[in-house]
Amino acid sequence: MKEEREGVLYIVATPIGNLEDITLRAIRILKEVDLIAAEDTRHTLKLLNHLEITKPMISYHRHNEEVRCDGLIQELKNGKNIAIVSDAGTPGICDPGEEIIKKCIEEKIKIVPIPGACAMINALIASGITTKEFTFLGFLPLNKKLRKEKLEEIKNLNKTLILYEAPHKLKNTLQDLSAVLEDRKIVLARELTKIHEEYIRGTLSEIQKQAEGLKGEMVLIIEGTNKKKENKLKELTLEKHYDFYKRQGLNKKEIIKKIAKDRNVNKNEIYQYFI
Ligand code: SAM
Repeated sequence: MKEEREGVLYIVATPIGNLEDITLRAIRILKEVDLIAAEDTRHTLKLLNHLEITKPMISYHRHNEEVRCDGLIQELKNGKNIAIVSDAGTPGICDPGEEIIKKCIEEKIKIVPIPGACAMINALIASGITTKEFTFLGFLPLNKKLRKEKLEEIKNLNKTLILYEAPHKLKNTLQDLSAVLEDRKIVLARELTKIHEEYIRGTLSEIQKQAEGLKGEMVLIIEGTNKKKENKLKELTLEKHYDFYKRQGLNKKEIIKKIAKDRNVNKNEIYQYFI
């Protein structure tokens, strides 16, 4: 009897500029799969031509992500191996990918990530700003109110902040960042892996002047707050202090422990307060 076998979804990272930045494994997988689901098939065709790969492609982008999923899942169930690629870098990082990955998990279909280029990681490691703890924010919300809320949420984070931004929105974004965050170190990583790759380093106020008219793709790496976190937290009400840690995803027990430590009091005292 013929053995039924489900296909595998490969999440394949592609270059973010320099076409040499693709792994041997990624090339092999692109050659071996039955189908490539690409964010923009014309864009990916250039890469495939460069790699001398001929392969059926289907478009899978932000606007058809949900509807395409079912068809792709069916193909996977029929035993087809599929590679998903975005226009640049790692699928799922500010690019399509999340939906099909969630569906595959629901349907118990095997997923294999094929590592490679990712703009935020490369900007971070070359920034010189601490890599120990960081928060990746993707693109800030465009809606003014949501943007303000997001900036308020992150302004006291003692972690490196990473943002993506389009060149025509950079000036505005730097102004918004300066209005909420204290003046602190920032590195603007531009055109990574490309001919005009550059790192502009300074403080938020300094960079604003230098950023006028900058073109190309960019990542912003911003230092976490300089202010002593504990001092600031002690000034909050207990409820707000609690919310601060809740937003970081901690559970009640962890939060109480943290609050007690920040305020240098016994954790039972905090526990009693919250019951
Ligand atoms: N999936 C991609 C990744 O793994 O980095 C990110 C895709 S997102 C739609 C595009 C944004 O990534 C750009 O606006 C820019 O902020 C950043 N980016 C992509 N390539 C870049 C590069 N070569 N240099 C600097 N930033 C880049």
